[in-house]
Amino acid sequence: MNSKSDEIQMKTNDHKKLGRELDLFTFSDTVGKGLPLWTPKGASIRRELERYIVDEEIKRGYSHVYTPDIAKLDLYKKSGHYPYYKDSMYSPIEIEDEEFMLRPMTCPHHFELYLDKPKSYRELPVRYAELAKLYRFEKSGELMGLQRVRSFCLADAHIICMKDQAKDEVSKVLDLIEDIAKTLGLIKDKDYSYRLSLGDRSDDKKYFKDDAAWDKAEEVLREVLISRESKFKEVDGEAAFYGPKIDIQMVNTNGKEDTAFTVQYDFVMPKRFSLKYINENNEEIEPVVVHRSSIGAIERIIAFLIEKYEGYFPTWLNPVQVKILPVSEKHNQYAMKVLYKLKEKNIRVEIDERNETLGAKIRNSQNEKVSYMVIIGEKEETSETINVRKRGQKESVDMNISDFIHDLKKEIEEKSIN
Ligand SMILES: [Zn+2]
Repeated sequence: MNSKSDEIQMKTNDHKKLGRELDLFTFSDTVGKGLPLWTPKGASIRRELERYIVDEEIKRGYSHVYTPDIAKLDLYKKSGHYPYYKDSMYSPIEIEDEEFMLRPMTCPHHFELYLDKPKSYRELPVRYAELAKLYRFEKSGELMGLQRVRSFCLADAHIICMKDQAKDEVSKVLDLIEDIAKTLGLIKDKDYSYRLSLGDRSDDKKYFKDDAAWDKAEEVLREVLISRESKFKEVDGEAAFYGPKIDIQMVNTNGKEDTAFTVQYDFVMPKRFSLKYINENNEEIEPVVVHRSSIGAIERIIAFLIEKYEGYFPTWLNPVQVKILPVSEKHNQYAMKVLYKLKEKNIRVEIDERNETLGAKIRNSQNEKVSYMVIIGEKEETSETINVRKRGQKESVDMNISDFIHDLKKEIEEKSIN
């Protein structure tokens, strides 16, 4: 490919451009820069993705919770986030002599939830997960589509466990990340890669002084990666202030590498929040915390997926799974009957009832990148069948409605990537 066609390629799959063409999300200056508005179509992709993540996490022993988007400033002072994140947080809101913050992270909320009741070692690991709406102040010049926004939703979790459970927990997190990535069609070492981010021990501002604890934490993460035979690179100075992390790096369509998800080993927050569990001998012991995201920020992963699929979403994620095209208005009534049969089975279906030629309707559906076109004319109505054309295929097939629904439901359930 020469450089000119590379350039065209870059422009055609840009998520901002496709997002507009496919009507997935928008921004309004009156709402504010970097605050995305999801259209019904974009929202249906997001909802499918969120349902999948929540179900998958619950299956693997996570407890999904809800905590508020706003909290007292004192909470972030207690966690120690405030001095580090001050510049990327929104200014405090003052009400009744108290200061509140729009939350930039979920961690301290989950720790306060943990503290609600004393925990026995038998209850560990506690795995709190949340689709958490977070707010960070990004400079307006750095905002970019869904990739860099000021309000986003993080598929977040905090695993509170005994020290000797940490390695196993981190490994299970990587299993989850790899399984989700596979479902989405992301290939390890091509679409994403591991980075072990270590603390810069000469930087007192970014580095919590405790050499022994850092050594231990780095060793845990490194050993997990080695035992899984995962390729990774080590980078200094990219850790969180409370510990080292494994970053899952992705490259976007403009060739820029970004951290998509992280797994962090934290030995600082348990001290700050006095997190404890009671061991077999009735003693209070300090656990460790693994912060992790299974899929990162929903906005950022969707931006990535739009570009990866070039707008051709697999059926399970596609906002319009089926488009019904009556050949003429005469067949609208039968077409509506078919529509309701599909809707009843939770299939996302639309009908093109406009007084247009079939050719125009087909072209329009192709531009919308729908998964299936169902064409309905005289022959179909008389035989009570449908004519089905799958995206990307020239041939269409005659089918019974119930057979079509059966096959389609199977494809959606299996989350096939066409
Ligand atoms: Zn956290």
